[in-house]
Amino acid sequence: MNINLFLREKVVETAKRILDFGLVTGTWGNISIKDDKLLHVTPSGVLYPQMRTSDVVTVDMNGNVVYGNLIPTSELPMHLAIYKNRSDVGAIIHFHGLYSSIISIIADEIPPLLEDIAMALGYPLKVSKYAFPGTTELSENVLEALGDNNAVYMRNHGATAVGEDIEDAFLNAILAEKAAQIYYFSSIATQEHKNLEVHYVPEKHARELRKKYLEKYKLLKKTTK
Ligand SMILES: [Zn+2]
Repeated sequence: MNINLFLREKVVETAKRILDFGLVTGTWGNISIKDDKLLHVTPSGVLYPQMRTSDVVTVDMNGNVVYGNLIPTSELPMHLAIYKNRSDVGAIIHFHGLYSSIISIIADEIPPLLEDIAMALGYPLKVSKYAFPGTTELSENVLEALGDNNAVYMRNHGATAVGEDIEDAFLNAILAEKAAQIYYFSSIATQEHKNLEVHYVPEKHARELRKKYLEKYKLLKKTTK
């Protein structure tokens, strides 16, 4: 079997990047990259600084390990469920960023805050209903709250970002954490300073921006492939 070493390396490289950006600690969080009918995923229980390409687990779309010696992430069912429901998704990053985690506790959704976030992630960004980690219920709740968006916050847990490829998923994870941070601080600012007021991107403009972004982005991807 031909195993794509480049994509397995990308899993490790991205794991170290999300650690550097403070989106994960310890062995929490996980990453997957789709490779036709296979997935390259982070292993369970390996610390990010020590993770090597040989630790990455390759599974088929039913979750069976086809390459690698370690156990795949316990959140593999959620990754598989997203790929089965979203043919546009080529990579997934699940993370426990500080502000995404705060939003997963205190909010139900984040309205369109800024144009770049509405364009790249969609809106409103929702918090999925609580479910025990690793369960089918968690996968279902995440799918429901994700919808057509590129990020979802998970109740009392963290967040998940998706993208057409791993670079796209990484940017979306950073943007999702940024959205959570901006929402949190702008909410506090308006509570503390009564002369301040939160203004969201108007709904019709958010819709138009998202539509234009998807059209332009897809066109760009087609011409560069
Ligand atoms: Zn998690």
